[in-house]
Amino acid sequence: MNRIESQGLVYDQFPIFSDIPWLFHGCFTRKGGVSTGPYQGLNLALSNGDLPESVKENRRRVLQEAGGHELVFLSQVHGDRVHLHKEGTLEPVTADAVVTNRPGSMLTILTADCQAVFLVDPVKKVVANAHAGWRGSVAGILSKTVATMVDAFGCEPEDILAGIGPSLGPCCAEFVHYKKELPKSFYSHRVGINHFDFWAISRDQLCRAGLCAHKIRASLHCTRCDSDHYYSYRERHTTGRMASVIGIRR
Ligand SMILES: [Zn+2]
Repeated sequence: MNRIESQGLVYDQFPIFSDIPWLFHGCFTRKGGVSTGPYQGLNLALSNGDLPESVKENRRRVLQEAGGHELVFLSQVHGDRVHLHKEGTLEPVTADAVVTNRPGSMLTILTADCQAVFLVDPVKKVVANAHAGWRGSVAGILSKTVATMVDAFGCEPEDILAGIGPSLGPCCAEFVHYKKELPKSFYSHRVGINHFDFWAISRDQLCRAGLCAHKIRASLHCTRCDSDHYYSYRERHTTGRMASVIGIRR
């Protein structure tokens, strides 16, 4: 990952996307916002108890850095619904992934341990952002997002590049009840007794959706291991949410 520092904000970019001139993307860390207390930093979520005026200012800073005309938020519910963002859509709609070809619309996924997964088709000029926590992974949110890109815009899966953002690593993704919660197909990515490598699980799912393995990157930053840069729900339930933002520049 390339770490960018700009206007007091600190965010990571995937080198695999750096040759696409029309693309903005960033996995924002918690650095550089005005929130305080357990939300200390750049919390973008309104629904977790932070002051609305702090969140509004944090969102303004992120939009300014991204350079679009809007941040597109979803009402994320750990499901498998994919939203096609068009002009005039009244957000936030209830969904866990969003796809668009609309310049200036900056697709935003909020996380604290879950994955935000960026998908980019540099040929058809289409972007997507998916929220993949373990429930979303079980539900197949990533393959459904790829399918939406194919159906709505004629994308070829082998053209699509993917970036898996900072999230709970195999060091911290402990699932004591994994036999009840996770399908057997995930067991090959079990680490030790009951930890799981969800970066590898997402990579597998994207490959099965038709992406090429060499076009998939994971940040490999664990959100729970670095509370200086990241919010972690496992570390502390009352906390903020980081923004992962991707969009087509105007
Ligand atoms: Zn960790």
